[in-house]
Amino acid sequence: MDVLLRNAFQSLGRSRSANKLARKYGLRFGASRFVAGETIRQAIEAVRKLNASGRAATLDHLGEFVAGAEEANESAAMCLRTLDAIEEAGVFCNLSLKLTSLGLDIDREVCFRNIRSILDRARQYGNFVRIDMEDYAHCQATIDLYRGLRRSFDNVGIVIQAYLYRSERDLEELRELRPNLRLVKGAYKESPKVAFPDKKDVDDNYRKLVRMQLLSGQYAAVATHDERLVEYAKQLMAEHGLPKEKMEFQMLYGIADELQLRLVREGFKVRVYVPYGTDWFGYFMRRLAERPANAGFVLKNLFK
Ligand SMILES: Cc1cc2nc3c(=O)[nH]c(=O)nc-3n(C[C@H](O)[C@H](O)[C@H](O)COP(=O)(O)OP(=O)(O)OC[C@H]3O[C@@H](n4cnc5c(N)ncnc54)[C@H](O)[C@@H]3O)c2cc1C
Repeated sequence: MDVLLRNAFQSLGRSRSANKLARKYGLRFGASRFVAGETIRQAIEAVRKLNASGRAATLDHLGEFVAGAEEANESAAMCLRTLDAIEEAGVFCNLSLKLTSLGLDIDREVCFRNIRSILDRARQYGNFVRIDMEDYAHCQATIDLYRGLRRSFDNVGIVIQAYLYRSERDLEELRELRPNLRLVKGAYKESPKVAFPDKKDVDDNYRKLVRMQLLSGQYAAVATHDERLVEYAKQLMAEHGLPKEKMEFQMLYGIADELQLRLVREGFKVRVYVPYGTDWFGYFMRRLAERPANAGFVLKNLFK
């Protein structure tokens, strides 16, 4: 049953018409548990609340399907506005973005120009930008672009997904760039040709990657709600006497709030990924696919 629901949510999330329809109706079906709002003002308000409880944030202006250069440029303009809003509000927050929303599938040059202008603005503010990792089809292009950017920018990081067989090698090969990496399990539906189908293998690989990155001395963002993996990272830090400043835990808005607050009390840096915008449907479906039990509260919200 879980597998069926997972596949259904993943397919719905990729459907352009479902995304379009959802955009028309506004944040519904309990999506506001995972999405901070539709406007920058609402997003900044959510960030202020997180900051007040000792948590940093990263804002993501949601945008799933970009059809042409004009839309890609609009999406880049929203990223710039988000950076401006963070600066004006003086909140403790950086930016996360997806390269497809900046035109990766349309024209690499357009995408490169867009991301450079965002990194320039962020650098002006002393801020940092994380490039999210999307599905396998975009993995190599994302890494290639990151490599190109890393030569000129210190304020950019990337994401490595533990479910991909290639990730260990990617991490090795990226090492010369002294990368700031966010480590995640991976959120997309991938073929067993490229990704571990079994959860246990993904978890084992996650441990391996966390170990590699933490022990390399480079900055690691350990992004998981899995308590066993959080414990693993903490133990590794303690065993090797690693400074807490070299890493942070990251979790998604609306998930594992208690765990986030406990880590703050223990003196760890915790950053919450806060998505916002009208294009919330695909993101919401990925969160449901991760945990089909969440479908229960969607049903409850349907009848509210
Ligand atoms: C800050 C951050 C950034 C991310 N960026 C990316 C990215 O760039 N690319 C990418 O592919 N993926 C990204 N992800 C998603 C990630 O790949 C996983 O899909 C997601 O984090 C769930 O995996 P988990 O590590 O929490 O472990 P799981 O084993 O999936 O979950 C562990 C426990 O966490 C809780 N939990 C997990 N997910 C949910 C949920 N949706 N609802 C309620 N409870 C839940 C449950 O208690 C579950 O038992 C990101 C995740 C985080 C936290």
